[in-house]
Amino acid sequence: MNLTHLTLQELQDHAQKLINQLAELEPFRQGSLTARYHTCGKAYCHCAQENDPGHGPYWTLSRASRGKNVAKTIKSDLVESTKQQIARFHEFQQIVEQLKEVNIRICDELLVREKQASQEAKKKTNHKNQHGYRKRNL
Ligand SMILES: [Zn+2]
Repeated sequence: MNLTHLTLQELQDHAQKLINQLAELEPFRQGSLTARYHTCGKAYCHCAQENDPGHGPYWTLSRASRGKNVAKTIKSDLVESTKQQIARFHEFQQIVEQLKEVNIRICDELLVREKQASQEAKKKTNHKNQHGYRKRNL
C-alpha cells in the first residue's frame, strides 16, 4: 500500500486496521521445520542399503533464542498445523512491518501539524501585537 498521499485520518484508519488484523491472528510461532532421516546401524535393516532414505522423516522445529538454537520434535501428524503456525508468524511480521511504516507516516504528519500550529500561534501573537501597537498610536 502506498502511504504517501494518505491523509492523517486515512493513515490512522489504516493503522487501526493493521492492529485489528494482529488481534485476530491465531497463535503463531517462529521457527523452521526440518525433516531428518537416519540410519539405525543394524546391518540387516533396509536403512543399511545404499540409496535407502533411512528412517524418518523426523521433524524438528528449530529457532534461535538468545543466540542459542532451540529445537523441538514435531510428530508427523502435527507437521501441517505447525507449518500453519509458522505461516502465521510470517503474517505477524508483515503486519508489524506495515504498522511500523504507517506509524512513521503518522508521526511525520503530526510533526507537520505541530509546525503549522506553532506558526498559526505566532501569526496570532503578531496580530495581537500589531493591534496593541495601533491602539497605543491612537
Ligand atoms: Zn534401520
